[in-house]
Amino acid sequence: MSVHIQNITTALKATFNGTQPDMEIDNVSIDSRSLQNNYGTLFFALGGQNRDGHQFITALIAKGVVNFVVNHIPNETLGKANFFVVPDTLKALQDFAVYYRGLYSFPVIGITGSNGKTIVKEWLNYVLSPDYNIIRSPRSYNSQVGVALSVIGINEHHDLGIFEAGISTTGEMQKLEPIIRPDIGILTHIGPAHDEGFASQNQKIAEKLQLFTHVKTLILQNNAAVNALLPESAHTFTWGFDDASADVNIAKKLHNGGTTLTIHYRGDFEVQVPFTDAASVENAISCILLMLHLDYSPETITDRIGGLYPVELRLQVKNGINGCTLIDDSYSSDYQSLKIALDFLEQHKTHQKKTVILSDVFQSGFDTQVLYAKVARLLAGHNISQVIGIGETISRELAEFPNFYGYTTTTDFLTHYRANAFEDETVLIKGARSFRFDEIVVFLEEKTHETVLEINLNSVIHNLNFYKSRLKPTTKIMVMVKAFGYGAGSYEIAKALSHQKVDYLGVAFADEGIALRNAGITTPIIVMNPESTAFAAMAAYNLEPEIYSAKELRSFIAMAQQKNLSNYPIHIKLDTGMHRLGFQQNQISELIDLLRNNNLVSVKSIFTHLSASDDVQFRDFTLEQVNKFEAWSGQLMSDLHIQPLRHVLNTSGIYNYPEAQYDMVRLGIGLYGVGNDATERKSLQTVGTLKTIILQIKEVPAGDSVGYSRRFMADKPVHIATLPIGYADGIPRAWGNGKGFVTINGQKATILGSICMDMLMVDVTGIDCKEGDTAIIFGESPTVVEMAEVLGTIPYEILTSISQRVKRVFFKE
Ligand SMILES: *Cc1c(COP(=O)(O)O)cnc(C)c1O
Repeated sequence: MSVHIQNITTALKATFNGTQPDMEIDNVSIDSRSLQNNYGTLFFALGGQNRDGHQFITALIAKGVVNFVVNHIPNETLGKANFFVVPDTLKALQDFAVYYRGLYSFPVIGITGSNGKTIVKEWLNYVLSPDYNIIRSPRSYNSQVGVALSVIGINEHHDLGIFEAGISTTGEMQKLEPIIRPDIGILTHIGPAHDEGFASQNQKIAEKLQLFTHVKTLILQNNAAVNALLPESAHTFTWGFDDASADVNIAKKLHNGGTTLTIHYRGDFEVQVPFTDAASVENAISCILLMLHLDYSPETITDRIGGLYPVELRLQVKNGINGCTLIDDSYSSDYQSLKIALDFLEQHKTHQKKTVILSDVFQSGFDTQVLYAKVARLLAGHNISQVIGIGETISRELAEFPNFYGYTTTTDFLTHYRANAFEDETVLIKGARSFRFDEIVVFLEEKTHETVLEINLNSVIHNLNFYKSRLKPTTKIMVMVKAFGYGAGSYEIAKALSHQKVDYLGVAFADEGIALRNAGITTPIIVMNPESTAFAAMAAYNLEPEIYSAKELRSFIAMAQQKNLSNYPIHIKLDTGMHRLGFQQNQISELIDLLRNNNLVSVKSIFTHLSASDDVQFRDFTLEQVNKFEAWSGQLMSDLHIQPLRHVLNTSGIYNYPEAQYDMVRLGIGLYGVGNDATERKSLQTVGTLKTIILQIKEVPAGDSVGYSRRFMADKPVHIATLPIGYADGIPRAWGNGKGFVTINGQKATILGSICMDMLMVDVTGIDCKEGDTAIIFGESPTVVEMAEVLGTIPYEILTSISQRVKRVFFKE
């Protein structure tokens, strides 16, 4: 927009009093909080019940706003800005909109009715947007103020307008009609909504019909009550169900998941509407009539109507994970609605940190670079801390934007982004429908009623401190976060530990380390099973390899040479009896030869791994491993004249062989609350609690069976509860059929029959519980240790088998 202020004075019939009589305005605002207020803003000081726009003028002048529409000039501001003085600022806003609407002559669709206005508008936008550059009312901006603001959004790129008008009492539509000035009218369902503002149903209908005073065509359902109120001259295009007197006669047939409409209009054709409720079907018919009016072919109509989707009427504020607040706007992504959403974000933010997840922006009529430059200015103007762009265009166009992270697809984002990288921030999720941002909302929404693995970060720290207390204060600690932190979430654990004294993190593969680096973890990281294909990436991400063979070392050195690295830290693994990875005794001299006088790499540590530190019956074997380690590492140190860190102990090693702690230990399972020894366990706190809810409770009579293959037969009537968790979530199938149990309201409920892929059934006979109650799969009871014992496995396997589809929820007191 670009409007000279002289034209404003005329349009508003205002008295001008100002300092800069020769300038243009390029946007309009009524919200003093909007971060879009700037030099080019025309600010309307509207009165309100609690706030009066005039109060904010001084502050807005300080922000650089120059032009104000007021009903009086506040004392202290006289001579400091341009004022357009009018008797009524709301009327002035409407007058401005009428003037502005008059500058454009493309077709405009006006929609009113009691229900369905916003849905019809959004759906029309969906079915027509392949062919038009549409300006439409944002959300449900259909009031005296909203309609004016909607129309003011028009610019020279648009070639079709769709605006809705809502009224609550008489006299209102008269004001809205000249602002919208529709060429085509749509009357949606007329129901009892908002009747209190009117003397009668007829008065309400008559008032609404005023929107259509100047339309060339009015689309509506054939209805005697409405027809009686239409002027004789009205040019209508009507529809009806099994109504031969309507222009378009429609037969409807409901079926599972949708409605088939047979449209009789210049021949018959069928349209599938993906809804069954009467309101949605009527709204879809309004769209079909409009498409018929615009001469769309039956094929196109069928195709586009088949794609209609449920419309969210408001920006939704939701509780997110980790104390985040989410603003869900996962249905559209155009410049106009982005502006609104950013203002909404400003008003609803509950945290300092503001993140925007934004898809490609669709705004036809603009050159891509110009459009994204505007988007970038908008984001910068709102002080957005972080922008996550999803889509090829936005990833490319905003690549230079500060704190911008680009992903080409939503799936790409969902697979690479750790949900818990979001914390205590307000997140606006705004994307066009085709990007399926609703999946991101699901991903980030706080889940209170479903299967979660709850991770208590306080317990993690407690457990760390327990092992620390058994070590010398100088002994360094490496925390193993391989396999997603034993299933608990590697990034979150690493982050929780970043304020504790942890010297190293250990991961199995390079990509786990890269993910930690991407999440901002700076602690040194050792990669235990480095593959030579990942060496270059490791160097790029500052990840240190475990070196277990001469061949591996040679290839790492070759990479270091190629990349001009020097003294790159490496960690030498000795195989003292585990016989997994590591140098054996007869390979040590070759190792020494390779390392002697080599300054491409530097031995940061030497270590070995114990095979049986948890089992005292192998004490002699273990001590022999330690002795070998002492001898071999000693040889390396003296021959190479190096003083690296040495480390041997894992969790049960720390507990059983503290004398072998050397310079560092490698703490794994104990951190996650599982000790291998009963007394050790008493000192630990439970970290992970796997929970779900009761989906359904039912009674099973004697003689009936439960589940697949009828593995449970009721010999007496039982009450059973079905839980939405199964072997695909990582619950071993062997835990079913009476072996395992869950805890519901403090009581044991035995698992009946075979565990299914996504569900299992438990016996709740005699347990006081109801649908929706929580069931604990493991945690305090049963513990993973108990489960492992019954199943003949180890807790490690149970913890790391919990599927990644189970959401991890972290808490700290
Ligand atoms: C996994 C692992 C550890 C940690 O073992 P826990 O028994 O879980 O404490 C230590 N060192 C190495 C080499 C490992 O692979």
